[in-house]
Amino acid sequence: MFDLFFPTYCINCGRVGSYLCPWCIKKLKNALPECYVCRKVSNKYITHDECNKDGLDRVFVGWEYSNISKKILGQYKYRYAYKISEILSNILIQRLEITGFSKNITPNTLLIPIPIHSSHEKKRGFNQSLLLATHLSKYFKCRMNPNIIKRVGDHKHQSQQSVKDRLSMGKNTFEVIRNLEILGEDIMLIDDVISTGTTLNRACNTLKGNKISAITLFRGKPHYQYLRE
Ligand SMILES: [Zn+2]
Ligand SMILES: [Zn+2]
Repeated sequence: MFDLFFPTYCINCGRVGSYLCPWCIKKLKNALPECYVCRKVSNKYITHDECNKDGLDRVFVGWEYSNISKKILGQYKYRYAYKISEILSNILIQRLEITGFSKNITPNTLLIPIPIHSSHEKKRGFNQSLLLATHLSKYFKCRMNPNIIKRVGDHKHQSQQSVKDRLSMGKNTFEVIRNLEILGEDIMLIDDVISTGTTLNRACNTLKGNKISAITLFRGKPHYQYLRE
């Protein structure tokens, strides 16, 4: 919709009309279905049995991380957050439907957004993964609960931490708040970016004993991708 008094501009190209215009959405490169551990192409995003040491059954990635996604996430985190999360959720839902990954989300699925440290949330005012999870749960008519796990230990922003600090964080980055609610649940973790997969693995280990998958927006393409093209 066009607003004559407060026109909206595309955060990438500056066109008037939308925070993320259709031309820039088209520039996003779809990520291939792959095993999130070894990063080889894998049918239906399934983690290979031999790779599945940390427990995530499958991890969906929407698009390759690129300059445009960097710009989207930068803006998404600090400005226009709600509008952009709506647009991203809609195109994410389209990708989930087209790829068939949406079949993994049933009315029994429990969506859990990856929490950020509460001090970050205060500064920023919101958790972007929670916004995404909220949109997805409305569309797929499934449950969503942001109060199952919380972050512990990393009080400083990662960039301000020394290597020693980061190592001393060990494996316990998350803690379960409500154990009973996740017994036997079919869990789908929601996060905006996956890099090495450590964060998702840690959340997964914290929630151990359940069937756990994940949905993320962006991931850098694997180094050997030229071999696959
Ligand atoms: Zn644009
Ligand atoms: Zn693998």
